[in-house]
Amino acid sequence: MTIKLNKIIVIDIEATCWEKNPPPEQESEIIEIGVCILDVALAKPVEKESILVRPERSKISEFCTQLTTLTQAEVDKGITFDEACLKLRKKYESLQRVWASWGGYDKNMFEKQCLSRGVKYPFGIRHINVKNLFALVHALPKEVGMANALELLDIPLEGTHHRGGDDAWNIGKILGKLLLQSRIINKEV
Ligand code: AMP
Ligand code: MG
Repeated sequence: MTIKLNKIIVIDIEATCWEKNPPPEQESEIIEIGVCILDVALAKPVEKESILVRPERSKISEFCTQLTTLTQAEVDKGITFDEACLKLRKKYESLQRVWASWGGYDKNMFEKQCLSRGVKYPFGIRHINVKNLFALVHALPKEVGMANALELLDIPLEGTHHRGGDDAWNIGKILGKLLLQSRIINKEV
């Protein structure tokens, strides 16, 4: 399959969560897929979307609403996980693109949920862990959180932290900066 390198898909998911363990018979599920398109030539995010996903094996707890602002009524209006993965493939050509996320959490959740629901995994093998790349580029002793990385770069956190679309947009800005910092200009490759 030909890989298209002109855009990177930045993904940030939110999932049902609880202060401690999930209640009996419930499990953490994806409730929001934040998508941000990073234009590689511009090294800037150019588009974003929040895809709300209806949970099937869990409910939104008070704790989860406090963290993400998402309510049960909102996610009830969302699409199924299967439909969301299909949208990533069709609208964003996710199989043919490099994708990126902060840390390993989002990738693990996608792998786990696709496996448990029998849904086709919507991404290819080219994944950038921006959290790890950020720490390496800046020779940090350990990986840091997204809000901390924005502060170190003097980039304002736009929107609401812990909302998928806004988190993906902010990660897109960080990745754009990382791309620019190491870019060779005016040189044939
Ligand atoms: P984030 O992208 O940082 O907003 O986190 C993604 C998901 O991780 C959230 O939707 C929660 O399911 C889970 N999560 C993040 N922070 C916490 C926390 N402090 N306690 C429990 N779950 C969390
Ligand atoms: Mg998030």
